[in-house]
Amino acid sequence: VPSPKADAAALRTFVPTLQGEIEPEQLGLTLAHEHLFILSAEFQHNYPGLWDREHGVDLAVSQLEDAYDRGVRTMVDMTVLGQGRDIGLVAEVGARTRVRLVIATGVYSLDGIPMFARFRGPGCLIDEADPLTELMLADVEHGVAGSTVRAGVVKFACEGDTPWASAERMAAAVAAVHVRTGVPVVVHSDPFAANGVELVKILQRHGVAPSRIAIAHVGDSGDLDYLRGLADTGCLLGFDRFGMVTFASDAQRLTLLATLVRDGLLDQLLVSQDHASHIDYLTVEQRARIYPEWSYTHMLDRVLPELLNMDDMPTSILDDLLVANPRRFLTPART
Ligand SMILES: [Zn+2]
Repeated sequence: VPSPKADAAALRTFVPTLQGEIEPEQLGLTLAHEHLFILSAEFQHNYPGLWDREHGVDLAVSQLEDAYDRGVRTMVDMTVLGQGRDIGLVAEVGARTRVRLVIATGVYSLDGIPMFARFRGPGCLIDEADPLTELMLADVEHGVAGSTVRAGVVKFACEGDTPWASAERMAAAVAAVHVRTGVPVVVHSDPFAANGVELVKILQRHGVAPSRIAIAHVGDSGDLDYLRGLADTGCLLGFDRFGMVTFASDAQRLTLLATLVRDGLLDQLLVSQDHASHIDYLTVEQRARIYPEWSYTHMLDRVLPELLNMDDMPTSILDDLLVANPRRFLTPART
């Protein structure tokens, strides 16, 4: 008879993906921070002509298959509530691609707690346990939106002008999910407000070990002192927007990444592209003009070969960045 203890051990050992629970060793080459579809759900719902869903699914499948042909075996879809997460849409893609998809839970809200939860929760008009914690926990423990697909990552977002009180509440809710389930924590941070160290500190106060936290998007910062200070906390640093040239150049990202590798921080670096097959913040034409090279394979095609060309990089660097680091991070482990 399996004991509850054995069940808890199983929850820690397997990584949930859309296509089934897998051993961490099966993750293979992993894109740690990408998106399938970023959709403004209410706009899409009310103006169905904005996007051709069927074509969108076909396009995502063909882009993922290209990535598979370049060696990609797993992609983390970091799309959460506030970004139009739609498990049905993700499942349509997942059924037709060989790339495994890890699903995220969490809330992306830069201007405070969403209205849904603003009046209820700790210290609110209705002072009760945070309903967001319960919803996110259900995603990790039971499955997303009535499916059996469990989330493998928990995320929230905080930029320079996000009210700090709401960041504290989100951190507490996300930390509670981590403490109970062991799934890693990802924070969409503001590289230009350099808020990563503060975010790690709050999460630590709520019981999350820095090794279980990835501060996303810091690779866009040009401030080496900030990056080194953040690395000192022990968290992972996301160089995860290669190809998004509006925030920083890939050349700058690569130079800083190589510097951190020389500092001995290779184990703390995650690389990715924050690419979305479709994002409705831009029209298809605008996006093609502004981000001509942005794709699921941009890093593999154009960026990482340059890193390999630097003669002082460890020979294992691609395996470390794309296989070992994501695997260690995504393997559930409580702290
Ligand atoms: Zn993202």
